[in-house]
Amino acid sequence: MTYSFQKLPQLIDQRGLLPSRGSYTRRNTSLKNCVRAWHHSLTRKHLPGSNALGFANYHVNTLGWPGPAYALIIEPQNIVNTPQGKRARIVYANDISLRTYHVGNSNDFAIGICVAGDYRTDELDEATKVTIAELQAALVKDGIGNEDKSHHEFSGYSWKQCCVFDYNKTFTFLAHTPVTDIPDVYTVQQGDTLWGIANGDERFTVEDLIKWNDIKDPSRLQVGQKLHFKVPAETASKKASPKVLWVGTVKVAAINVRKGPSVAHPAASQLKKGDEVTVYKEHQNGWLDIGNGQFVSNVKGAYVDKKQSKHPLAGRRVEAIAVAVNFYDTPRWDRPSGQFTRGQGWIVIEQVTTNGSPQYKVKNSRGNIYYITSRKDLVRLL
Ligand SMILES: [Zn+2]
Repeated sequence: MTYSFQKLPQLIDQRGLLPSRGSYTRRNTSLKNCVRAWHHSLTRKHLPGSNALGFANYHVNTLGWPGPAYALIIEPQNIVNTPQGKRARIVYANDISLRTYHVGNSNDFAIGICVAGDYRTDELDEATKVTIAELQAALVKDGIGNEDKSHHEFSGYSWKQCCVFDYNKTFTFLAHTPVTDIPDVYTVQQGDTLWGIANGDERFTVEDLIKWNDIKDPSRLQVGQKLHFKVPAETASKKASPKVLWVGTVKVAAINVRKGPSVAHPAASQLKKGDEVTVYKEHQNGWLDIGNGQFVSNVKGAYVDKKQSKHPLAGRRVEAIAVAVNFYDTPRWDRPSGQFTRGQGWIVIEQVTTNGSPQYKVKNSRGNIYYITSRKDLVRLL
């Protein structure tokens, strides 16, 4: 049967034509129960070899795999003119029924799709973005896979720098789970090699893995073997620790914590009223990414209250040391509302920047809010 994704004008069928050594076995999971697994190659997109043929050569000749790791490879360096405009070429590299090596123990139910490029630094161009969107839509239409996941959202790979970074705008169908720190111990999965594990990761090298684990024969890894990562702590979290957007608390009796940003995903646990929630990302649909692949709804702000974060200077007393210091009833620098005289003091609420210069937002003993300069020659903190 011919699927609609095969009819995309930018697709070229190279099944059986790329370097191979033996063949992959067929997957046991039916296609409709599979997950579409998105990767980037972690090789700069303009470099020679950053394409399906290059990956096939590397996976077969260096890693010793039966064929290229992915079913489908998008090549930004091969732009095709189609009736709809310019598109990045798609190489159909392995039949989608084959269990290829790209996400270890999850290979049986994961369909590997790789966008050539290293999107920690490369930019996605329009022709590639449109191809990604069209391919994903066609696979959905064909019933090939029922969900999209990034490589690092598969079991054991939360630390993998694939495929996050600048994917957010294009990969609107991915959940954008933050990448975690490197684990202390990693369990070798099917198809893993030292080179594959270290591929593109600037935090450690193949040599590090050999040294940390006293490996005698680097070409032989056993599935299930434990590898120790002894990356210095500050390196391990470098570039990888997710940024906290804000912290809030649950304001309703209970909310479900789900594995994805919609009610279509199964509920994994619950949070109760008053529980603290750390938010890493706010999705446009109102769902909050609370880390570790967990999501809660905050549609219309109905379930989680943003905590008023306290400024580190909040509660400190600030005193005029100049003869007179202007104060303003809104954040501004002109038309003072009045003047405080030397020795008068107020309580700091926070420091703000007004037209590029710092001000303290303060309150007086009556609770009135004013804005004053924070210049050290005019006021001092106690
Ligand atoms: Zn990957």
